[in-house]
Amino acid sequence: MDFRGQVAVVTGGARGIGKAIAGALAGKGVNLVIADISLEQAKDTAAGLEKLGVKTMPVKLDVSKSGEVIKIFEDISKEFGKIDILVNNAGITRDGLIMRMKEEDWDAVININLKSVFLCSKEAIKAMAKQRYGRIINIASVVAFMGNPGQANYSASKAGIVGLTKTTAKEYASRGITANAVAPGFITTAMTEALPENVKDEMKRAIPLGRFGTAEDVANAVVFLASPDSGYITGQVIHINGGMYV
Ligand code: NAP
Repeated sequence: MDFRGQVAVVTGGARGIGKAIAGALAGKGVNLVIADISLEQAKDTAAGLEKLGVKTMPVKLDVSKSGEVIKIFEDISKEFGKIDILVNNAGITRDGLIMRMKEEDWDAVININLKSVFLCSKEAIKAMAKQRYGRIINIASVVAFMGNPGQANYSASKAGIVGLTKTTAKEYASRGITANAVAPGFITTAMTEALPENVKDEMKRAIPLGRFGTAEDVANAVVFLASPDSGYITGQVIHINGGMYV
C-alpha cells in the first residue's frame, strides 16, 4: 500500500473513530485535513499527527452547512492542490423513541450524519474527477441493517448513507473514483461510553467475538479501502461488528 504524498480529508477527525482513522492514514504517510466542529480539538489532533512527519491542516467545519463545506474544500484545494481520500466520519446521536422524538432531533441527525455526506462528497468529487482518482469512504453503522429502538433518526441516516454510497460508486466509477462504506458495530468511544453499564453488558453478550470493537478496528478497514490497491472494490459495505450482525 503506497500512499505517499496523498491527501485525505477526515470529517469529525478530531476525536474518536475519526482521530484513529486520521492516525492510521498518517502512519502510511498521508497528509491530513482534520475537519471538525471543534477547532481546538482538531488542532490538538493535527499537532499529534505532525510528529509522524506528515503535513496537516486543521479546520473548523460544520459538515451540515453547505456554505462552510464549499469554502473549506476551496481552501483545501488551494493548500494541497488535490484530494485523494475523503472519509465522511462526522456523526451524532439524538436518541429517543419515535413517539417522543422532537422534529429538531430528527433534522439534526439527518443533516449532520447524511446530508453532510452528500455535501462533502459533492465538493471532493469535483477535485477527484479532475485528477481521475479518488477514494470515498463513508462511515455507516450496523443499525442501518438491524434497526435499533430509540434510534429512528440515526438508523435512517446510516441506511441513507448506504444508498448514497452505492449511487456515488455507480456515478463516478468512470472517473476512477471508488465509494465504499464501513458499518461499525459497537465501538468503544465517547459516543458509546455514555451508555449505562447494564446496556453495555447486554450488548457484549450479543457479540460472538466477545468484545466491543476499537476505533483502530474501524481505522484498519478504512485504510484498506482508501488504499490505491483497493481500486476494484466499489459500492460495498464492510461490516466491522465482531459477528453481531452477519
Ligand atoms: P465521537 O467520538 O462523538 O466523534 C465524532 C466527531 O465528530 C467529534 O470530533 C465531533 O466533534 C465531530 N462532529 C460532531 N458534529 C459535527 C459537525 N456538525 N461537523 C463536523 N464535525 C462534527 O463519535 P465516534 O464514536 O467516533 O463516531 C464516529 C462515526 O462513527 C460517526 O459517524 C458514528 O455515527 C459512527 N459510528 C460509531 C459507532 C460507535 O460505536 N462509536 C458505531 C457505528 C458507527 P465534537 O466532539 O466537538 O462534538
